[in-house]
Amino acid sequence: MQRLRETQRLCSYQYCGNPFDGRSDKIFCSDQCRNRARRDQLKQDRWNAPLFFTKINDILRKNHTILEKLYKQKGDSIVVTGYLLRESGFNFEFNTRILKTTKGTYRFCFNYGWVELENSDILIVKNDKMVAI
Ligand SMILES: [Zn+2]
Repeated sequence: MQRLRETQRLCSYQYCGNPFDGRSDKIFCSDQCRNRARRDQLKQDRWNAPLFFTKINDILRKNHTILEKLYKQKGDSIVVTGYLLRESGFNFEFNTRILKTTKGTYRFCFNYGWVELENSDILIVKNDKMVAI
């Protein structure tokens, strides 16, 4: 077993453990070990997050991609069938904001929103205020 000098401590990074000198509040032997420990902690935190975080994020991301793609094809305001949206894999259950107007209730996925028209067509709009925090 290695013998530590009085001023030495062992690196706290779990895969290192090398002895080092330095300030008494220092717990890692190097920036590399400190960064690796932080990265491992972030990975662990992500792993510990409930699964629904990831799943709902994925749904919102997909919804946003679909709305953005359709919107960019036509620009300004675009009307599509609900069928087309559903067939694209759009999930109508998840929104980030709701905007009630005299024209109807707009449901937003970040900066893109949609409202159902009378004939069950869908109007897609863009409103950057919906992502202003
Ligand atoms: Zn180390």
